[in-house]
Amino acid sequence: MTTPYDADNIFAQILDGRIPSSPVDETPDTLSFADINPQAPVHHLVIPKGPYADLTSFAENASDKELAEWVRGLARAATSAGIAQSGYRVVVNCGADSHQEVPHLHGHVLGGHPLGPILTRRD
Ligand code: AMP
Repeated sequence: MTTPYDADNIFAQILDGRIPSSPVDETPDTLSFADINPQAPVHHLVIPKGPYADLTSFAENASDKELAEWVRGLARAATSAGIAQSGYRVVVNCGADSHQEVPHLHGHVLGGHPLGPILTRRD
């Protein structure tokens, strides 16, 4: 089922200029900008410009062009930041259990030093 889209979420406000961001890349379908609370030396967010609350909604509703451009934007964020060779991680939180905080699809592109294991076990 598609998650309803909140047109006042913080990334919607970045897209329409209501609040500022630090853009690093833009295409007709995507915007990339620095995370305001970086968790690694490089921490960029790549978002589609369309109204997609999460990855499930995006996969179900976006055009093939939007899907392709977002994936290319993720890789380009790493390349342009100079971490494609050293390695990087892409994180997409989707829904409550993932701790998704902003209900507009975003891929975190993280790198610039060794990132360690992807998750810490809870048990
Ligand atoms: P998530 O928990 O996957 O929803 O991640 C949301 C991310 O958005 C967090 O890493 C925040 O630091 C980041 N964030 C929130 N507000 C802003 C903002 N105004 N500009 C840039 N990044 C933001």
